[in-house]
Amino acid sequence: EEEKEKEIEIPRYARINGLKWTRDEAIETLREEKWQIIDGSDTIPFSQQITQLRDDQVLFDPHIPELLIFANSANLHAYWMIEQRYLIFQDKASCLPAFLISPPSGSHCVDTCAAPGNKTSHLAAYVGNEGCVWAFDRDPTRANTMKRLVKQSGAGDIVSVECGDFLRIDPSEERWKTVEFAVVDPPCSGSGMVKRMDEWTGSSAQADRLGKLANLQAMLLKHALKLPSLKRLAYSTCSIHEEENEQVVREVLKECSTDWRLAENLLPMWALRGKESYEFGKHCLRADPKITFTNGFFVVVFERIEEKKKKKK
Ligand code: SAM
Repeated sequence: EEEKEKEIEIPRYARINGLKWTRDEAIETLREEKWQIIDGSDTIPFSQQITQLRDDQVLFDPHIPELLIFANSANLHAYWMIEQRYLIFQDKASCLPAFLISPPSGSHCVDTCAAPGNKTSHLAAYVGNEGCVWAFDRDPTRANTMKRLVKQSGAGDIVSVECGDFLRIDPSEERWKTVEFAVVDPPCSGSGMVKRMDEWTGSSAQADRLGKLANLQAMLLKHALKLPSLKRLAYSTCSIHEEENEQVVREVLKECSTDWRLAENLLPMWALRGKESYEFGKHCLRADPKITFTNGFFVVVFERIEEKKKKKK
């Protein structure tokens, strides 16, 4: 039992909140507060660096520059950087969607299923004060929590919290004309979460539930792809089930392939890709506690096919 626990222990990830300070300021302050910063030498494999991390050390994530890695046992909960949201606890996998689309400063984004707003405030950090993120959630309690957290993160002026069903917006409305980037992180089974991984037995009730979730996921995704100026969209789940991941992507591509395709060069060094039985499998990223040291996760990026290229096709 204990062995198993140890095996799936993942480190604690904290994202440097670019709305409060720069990466350099964060590093300098961490040093002042006696953290030992490890720069990630190539001579030691990353997996070893993670497992050997001591409680007073901080490691830079090799993929996401604004992400820091602490030992799982490091005592950070009452730490001012966390309490004041200079650093935001966020699993590495959950940082991928915003990172992979990296909306430029000043751009406009939509987060279709946003509460409690982890990906929203990450998007806000990229677009900055000149930009805007419309963050939808249909659950009023969750939307309120998000409002509070977003404000504490310094993103109150960038994010507009929209309490409502994203499926009910009219994508052709004037209001959304400037939106170029989107994150769709819909409700999912959560089967990738380390704490929940044992709950999946494959019963017919579960199959039924997965079917319903997949339906909603595909609907949300297709609806977002209707935004007229959209360029890039990240679709993600914290599920390990093909039904909610590759299958949803296949269905959406089938319907939208004249205008949309999957981005092909997502993190070339990332070891774990989508299921090989799909022709687009290598364009999907999967995450797994044992391989990527994160919760189980799935992410793809849809990109609009330019008019010129369409004609050539
Ligand atoms: N993206 C969030 C984050 O990173 O913090 C987590 C989102 S959670 C996986 C899914 C959310 O979608 C829930 O808060 C749920 O209330 C919301 N939701 C479900 N259906 C929705 C819909 N049709 N429109 C807007 N939000 C919806």
